[in-house]
Amino acid sequence: MAFFNDGTGTLDRKVMSVPVVLMLGCWAVGLVYWWATRDLTGLFVLAYVGMFIGVGVGSFLGLPPNKRPVARRVMMFMVGAMLLGLALITDHGNMQIEGLFFGVLAGAPWIVLHYALAKFAGPLIFGRIWCGWACWFGMVFDLLPYKASRYRIPGRWGALRYAHFFLSLLTVVALWFIFGYHDGATGSSGIVWFVGGLALYYALGIGMALALKDNRAFCKYLCPISVPLKTFSRYAALKIAGDAPKCDACNVCVEQCPMNIRVPDYILKGERVLSTECTLCQTCIHVCPHDALKLSFAFDVGGKELIDFTPPRGARGEGT
Ligand code: SF4
Ligand code: SF4
Repeated sequence: MAFFNDGTGTLDRKVMSVPVVLMLGCWAVGLVYWWATRDLTGLFVLAYVGMFIGVGVGSFLGLPPNKRPVARRVMMFMVGAMLLGLALITDHGNMQIEGLFFGVLAGAPWIVLHYALAKFAGPLIFGRIWCGWACWFGMVFDLLPYKASRYRIPGRWGALRYAHFFLSLLTVVALWFIFGYHDGATGSSGIVWFVGGLALYYALGIGMALALKDNRAFCKYLCPISVPLKTFSRYAALKIAGDAPKCDACNVCVEQCPMNIRVPDYILKGERVLSTECTLCQTCIHVCPHDALKLSFAFDVGGKELIDFTPPRGARGEGT
């Protein structure tokens, strides 16, 4: 089923009215909620969500395709900053991956719910849209200078993510069962874990981006949260699809893809982009000179990783 995004930049009044109506609806609900409860946090959240939908989504849809990658970064910052701010000010616990493991052992519902929705169930439908549109780490990495890096280190360096994931799991299990430490999910210890983890990931991510000249280096090699995201996004209904007769294998999309995915190698075989590296950022759609790509809902199984390893130019192979 085709999904809206015609790539022509043509404004459709019906489509453009949807975000405006949703924005006004959110604000109306927020005012009613505030009038009934006097809860300013709820009012702020609903006002912000309304503004995001109206201004963010509306602007994105109204912009010409070549401006949409910039608009996505702005929208991602709006979503990621709101989610991070909410996670911190509402004190719902340690949202780092260790927080999930502590949360499962300790029964911390907000942490488990966050992972269940955003990292397990969500990717079954929307793939790794979290990474491309909502991640509070990615929102900062995407502002760094190397947006269209073509550099992916050859070999299976992506396996470091799995090592990181299992090291975090083992650390929590050891702390819980051997040392009797049970405080990593909520309370003051949880927030220390969370803020400490944030600082560590930002430092590592920015350092890796600058050293490897690749904004998304942390995502490609080290992020432990990508492990469940990659696992569940194999079955994602939403993926990038293509129109093979329109594609002339010019590779513009490959050059601009922040995750170095060999998009035309899927499209020319009549497949959707089956890589679990895809963050659905849609850059490929917006830069394709032949309007050959679009979002689509369907059922297929991903996990086929066709990755562009350069330099040296032309050296290509399978990735993790
Ligand atoms: S940019 Fe478009 S035409 Fe060029 S390789 Fe990619 S999908 Fe094909
Ligand atoms: S394949 Fe397209 S949507 Fe997926 S990460 Fe690459 S540019 Fe973004």
